[in-house]
Amino acid sequence: MKLIRKQVQQLHSYVPGEQPEGRGIVKLNTNENPYPPSLKVLGEVRAAVDERMRLYPDPTAQELRETLAKLHGVSSSNVIVGNGSDELLALATRAFVEPGKDAIQYFTPSYSLYPVLANIHNATRNEVALNEDFSLPTMGELRKSQWNFKAALTYVTTPNAPSGNGYTTADLEVLCKAQKGVMILDEAYVDFAKEHAMALARKHSNVLVSRTFSKAYSLCFQRIGYFVGTAKLISALDKIRDSYNVNGLGQVAALATLKDLQYYRTNFKEIIRLREQVGSALTSVGFVVVPSQTNFLLAKPPRLTARTWQRKLREQNVLVRWFSDLRVRDYLRITIGTEQEMGAMIGAIKAILKR
Ligand code: PMP
Repeated sequence: MKLIRKQVQQLHSYVPGEQPEGRGIVKLNTNENPYPPSLKVLGEVRAAVDERMRLYPDPTAQELRETLAKLHGVSSSNVIVGNGSDELLALATRAFVEPGKDAIQYFTPSYSLYPVLANIHNATRNEVALNEDFSLPTMGELRKSQWNFKAALTYVTTPNAPSGNGYTTADLEVLCKAQKGVMILDEAYVDFAKEHAMALARKHSNVLVSRTFSKAYSLCFQRIGYFVGTAKLISALDKIRDSYNVNGLGQVAALATLKDLQYYRTNFKEIIRLREQVGSALTSVGFVVVPSQTNFLLAKPPRLTARTWQRKLREQNVLVRWFSDLRVRDYLRITIGTEQEMGAMIGAIKAILKR
């Protein structure tokens, strides 16, 4: 007897970046923050590791939701917290998309999880290419393309990944207004961008804004993400989540983070400064660098293929990300690390170029 559903047998799961064991590796492949959580956050997490761990955490993450609601000028009924934003992106397929019938739509290239979620849910995938420079197609261009204004669910990564470029809120608003179904603005990298589109979640009943503590707030390990949107959309997601989807230490860490935002804002500035500096350094040795509003750079290397560059950098203990996808296969995606790590990366690149 067949134990596994045919659809599941045929699935290809999301491929995360390598998480190597051991020290001495300059890890620039998964867009993690090079700075640790603040001392206050680490202190509060440590203090929470006690006999309380036998108890279930707050099932609604109420205090965290209230604090986030205050931060964004909404009420706690407009906020849901997840086990990373990935969990919420997946829940959205189950809440808003009829399997086997409705469409899930996104631009290419964008976050490589979206097609995986669509396939898991057995939804139709509607992929529409971004312009050659990774900018958003205009409304006129979208009307001429196969863009579906009635797709049940549309994901937009903003600023985009893996290209790194940003979109204006004005352009996103035009898109949100034209869309009949649910729009998720995935702002995983927004703290490194020029503007954010949270106002659209407050203004439009079909818009959810997705945020995460993973990138800008150095908390990948704790898996905390959240959505902001109308109480109607949020309560639909709330109905179908696991009862204790957000672990207790994660709630503690996220709350402590929100009390110490100044520390993180200083880090964003440093990462943005370094990003610009590294972009210039890469350009000066022959890379073509996409202007970035994130904590990473997408850059087309000279002379050798991007795949070969990734391997050669790996040999020098520098890990960067390469995607086989047609639109980005000629590029490397390089996370902005510390100044020292960036120096090591540029050094390794120069050594490869000299050979
Ligand atoms: N959105 C985008 C665009 C991402 O790159 C990532 C990280 N891979 C996520 C969402 C998910 O982040 P997390 O689940 O850690 O919140």
